[in-house]
Amino acid sequence: MENDKVIQYGTCRYCGQVTQLHVDEGYSTEELNELATENCNCAMAVASVEKYHRIEEAKSNIEEIVEKSPEALKILNESILPVAAGLISKVVITAGDEKVSLSTGANGNIVVEKTITRKVKKTS
Ligand SMILES: [Zn+2]
Repeated sequence: MENDKVIQYGTCRYCGQVTQLHVDEGYSTEELNELATENCNCAMAVASVEKYHRIEEAKSNIEEIVEKSPEALKILNESILPVAAGLISKVVITAGDEKVSLSTGANGNIVVEKTITRKVKKTS
């Protein structure tokens, strides 16, 4: 027996399944529902946790890949959610010699891609 834990109930945000939770006292209904959703095995709950991780990862991928333009970084960061939600299929930003695209790939992956263009011109 854990004396400092109480039994509370939370409801999955997606499928409505009620889950018994052993938590410390003082959790709000919203927090309990959040916990129940995280612990739920329904497809929607699993997909949303996965999507959340993908979004977090896309953020750090963009920061890693966009080296020169804080403006491009800002626009791409704002584009993650609509791209992840499938509302925008691809965003391409060209800044200086960097062309960065953000899109969804197979399995709903969020793909960040950079192309560096270098023009070589010789005149005689
Ligand atoms: Zn569920």
